[in-house]
Amino acid sequence: MGKIYESISELVGGTPLLRLKRYEQKYGLRAEIYAKLEYFNPNQSSKDRIAVAMIEDAEKKGRLKPGDTIWELTSGNTGIGVAAVAASKGYSVRILLEDDANEERFRTIRAFGGEAVTFSEDPALSKALNNPDYSFVYAVKKFKEAVKEEKRDIFFLDQDNNDANPNIHETTTGPEIWEDTDGNVDFLVAGTGTGGTISGAGKYLKQRNKNIKIVSVQPGPLTRKNLENPDGEGIPGIHALDCIPEERIPHTMNMDIVDEFFNVEAKEAKQAAREVARTDGILVGYSSGAALYTARQLAQRSENEGKKIVVILPDTGLRYFSTDLFDV
Ligand code: PMP
Repeated sequence: MGKIYESISELVGGTPLLRLKRYEQKYGLRAEIYAKLEYFNPNQSSKDRIAVAMIEDAEKKGRLKPGDTIWELTSGNTGIGVAAVAASKGYSVRILLEDDANEERFRTIRAFGGEAVTFSEDPALSKALNNPDYSFVYAVKKFKEAVKEEKRDIFFLDQDNNDANPNIHETTTGPEIWEDTDGNVDFLVAGTGTGGTISGAGKYLKQRNKNIKIVSVQPGPLTRKNLENPDGEGIPGIHALDCIPEERIPHTMNMDIVDEFFNVEAKEAKQAAREVARTDGILVGYSSGAALYTARQLAQRSENEGKKIVVILPDTGLRYFSTDLFDV
């Protein structure tokens, strides 16, 4: 029997680890860097894993039924993964994207037949977000409740609150890293948005070897977009979690698994993404650049001589050509 797949869901995961030899040489690094290339997933990001996992979990539990429309709020990659998996299973989708999400994200979701709108374009969501008494998290919660009340045939995947998100990284991403390195791994470096990747993969790896260090990558103070810094450009897909009130930390994030939080500014993230394209021929996105910059800083510490650092590179650089990521 040949090797024919029956659906794109079967193509998710099993992404390769690539040693970044020329990037190591460029900086004369003391430690080895192994990049987990999540753009090998069928829709070019780590979020393909959770798209399949959350949809199939809801199907198994009987909560998602034929004829339902799947809704999700996302910075982009989850929406793309969900739109593709939903198309392959015959569901309709409606994806709500942050207002500043780039054009590629809207176009890709629409190419899969999904509806893609900004937060501001949804009247109920924008009303909740503009309520001065509501925090962002509370506004989103109120919005979801209102929509569910009104429309019975929609299903929110809710990646920030859905255990299928960290669970799939615990059962796939973590074991893949352990097997591909034969257990020779000292650090896991990953950006945190929902925290699903780091919490799930980190949990598995720490269970195998409690000495593995888990490093969370987040936008630095100059890059974060917040009330004090409204012009902060942000890094799509990742957020600073060690400096916000507990109620704003996603349910899917396990803060206790993290040994170190590492701040990266946009300039540093972009520089790393540009450099690795030239040193090792891999084209990755902003948050990958941030994670790689972090891996490099760890690899330069004298105490990490000879250590092995696995860094998760979540998506493809092709998704950022409408931005200045590769403008040099
Ligand atoms: N990088 C990018 C580009 C992403 O889209 C995401 C997901 N928001 C992450 C990193 C962080 O992954 P996680 O949600 O699993 O923490």
